[in-house]
Amino acid sequence: MRSIKRIFVHCTAGNQHQKIADLQAEFKRKGWKNPGYNYVIQADGTITQLLGEQFVSNGVKGYNSTSINVAYMGGIASDGKAVDNRTPEQKESLLKLLKELKGRYPKAEIMGHRDISPDTNGNGIVDPWERIKECPCFDAKEEYKEL
Ligand SMILES: [Zn+2]
Repeated sequence: MRSIKRIFVHCTAGNQHQKIADLQAEFKRKGWKNPGYNYVIQADGTITQLLGEQFVSNGVKGYNSTSINVAYMGGIASDGKAVDNRTPEQKESLLKLLKELKGRYPKAEIMGHRDISPDTNGNGIVDPWERIKECPCFDAKEEYKEL
């Protein structure tokens, strides 16, 4: 098994009711051999494994070989802006899945995709303006710090 250092939480940054097959097609269009995430959680809370945990998904450039990537469908408002639109079902499933993963990889750190953005001014924290992107549109480090 790979050594897992991080569990990244993402949003798909697309329609919350997108079908799994359409998401997969998107990855194919990008020319990716593997999907962007190991797991994706739909609006109704259904957890779908897109890729076995032993395989490398395409979630965070430069970090994928030691990471598991998990995403919830959504994260974009109708005006195109980033929004935390997780449904209660998605929140519940996300928590359940992250607990399981943390159980399997106790040393792995749970964080949001945006938390990996470079600390460009070197003040030790990633300021909001330094974030490459908003993904997953909420503070995953804070929300799951007890896991
Ligand atoms: Zn992401």
